[in-house]
Amino acid sequence: MQFETIILGAGAAGMMCAAHAGAGTLVIDHAKAPGEKIRISGGGRCNFTNLYAGPENFISKNPHFCKSALSRYTQWDFIELVDRYGIAWHEKTLGQLFCDETAKDIVAMLVSELEAAGAALQLETTILGVSHDRTTFRVETEHAGTRRTLTAKNLVLATGGKSIPKMGATGLAYDIAEQFGLPLLPTRAGLVPFTFPDGRFKPLSGTALPVRASADGPAFEEALLLTHRGLSGPSMLQISSYWQEGQPIQIDLLPGTDVLGQLKARRQSDGRRQLRTVLGYLLPAKLADYLSVEWALKGNMADQSDKALEALAERLTEWDLRPAGTEGYRTAEVTLGGVDTEALSSKTMEAKTVPGLYVIGEAVDVTGWLGGFNFQWAWSSGWAAGTAIRNKV
Ligand SMILES: Cc1cc2nc3c(=O)[nH]c(=O)nc-3n(C[C@H](O)[C@H](O)[C@H](O)COP(=O)(O)OP(=O)(O)OC[C@H]3O[C@@H](n4cnc5c(N)ncnc54)[C@H](O)[C@@H]3O)c2cc1C
Repeated sequence: MQFETIILGAGAAGMMCAAHAGAGTLVIDHAKAPGEKIRISGGGRCNFTNLYAGPENFISKNPHFCKSALSRYTQWDFIELVDRYGIAWHEKTLGQLFCDETAKDIVAMLVSELEAAGAALQLETTILGVSHDRTTFRVETEHAGTRRTLTAKNLVLATGGKSIPKMGATGLAYDIAEQFGLPLLPTRAGLVPFTFPDGRFKPLSGTALPVRASADGPAFEEALLLTHRGLSGPSMLQISSYWQEGQPIQIDLLPGTDVLGQLKARRQSDGRRQLRTVLGYLLPAKLADYLSVEWALKGNMADQSDKALEALAERLTEWDLRPAGTEGYRTAEVTLGGVDTEALSSKTMEAKTVPGLYVIGEAVDVTGWLGGFNFQWAWSSGWAAGTAIRNKV
């Protein structure tokens, strides 16, 4: 069976690419349904883009690589598509756009777009191997017990990263890229909760508060959630993508607050109250209790010297913690690293050394922050490859 283009992976990037590559395109996936990650994303409402998406919201060895695709297919282009399908949406916070109803609307829209463009979907198909003879790619497949060799002029790797293997994530794109000699950067889990196996935060499980956090990268002012396994919530997921094993993380528990000023004022107004009681005025009670024990905070407010209050203010604004690890690919929203952008054209996503081979989406070493940026990369990179293929044809 011959095709113009075969796309491996019917996820966000693969379907977007198919919708633009057009007729003669086949999208293959081993899953029962296309776009499974879209379906479960954003708590079932899909945070499909971000109003403020720009290259600064992405992590990559080459921070310039994502600029071309992001600027040619922007969040406004995707919003226009969503609007055209009458899918109602709202901004939740920080420019994050979600469907009003269900993420399934986004999946249905992409399927409809790719079908309207003349592309086809083949699900529940195992990819047994890929080869290339200079002009043609051969993809060995098995579908419903039948083995078939499919051929195409163009092959697009869109099978995503390793995050959430239970949902069908595999390292196939990396394996095929490697087979074709494309360089790979080490992969690791991103947008993932931190773990503390000693269970120190178990008693605080469910406590949430706004913080400002960092880990060898930009600081994120978002919520922190303490869990029985460790630390989660948007702020922790964001900094996990910058965190390296063994490194500390810093948390400002009272961002935007003049903590020393407040403590000194409380010394005046609540001099007879215990320091740990006053800490409970500033932080959730359970966390205040935990920190009071952890930091051995003793005495009444009136007993506290300026130096003691300065030290406490510093601790509260620079809480230094060393996570043991992360929950890994089991729960990570993304995979960092992957196919080195050096090997690809930033305009078309085509491999420089293998004409006709394209890599898009999460498989590429471009990883977005939490907040709709990863889908925007999938749409933009998928569009770039799809458009380049269509123009070539
Ligand atoms: C729980 C969760 C929630 C998320 N929420 C958001 C969000 O709200 N906003 C956001 O921007 N990002 C979110 N993300 C990240 C986002 O889902 C991904 O970045 C995005 O889907 C990547 O698109 P992709 O097309 O590259 O890969 P995917 O969408 O993962 O698609 C890859 C496709 O390839 C198929 N595949 C994989 N291996 C094989 C194989 N060996 N053979 C055949 N087929 C294969 C898979 O079945 C899948 O259909 C979330 C991720 C997770 C895990």
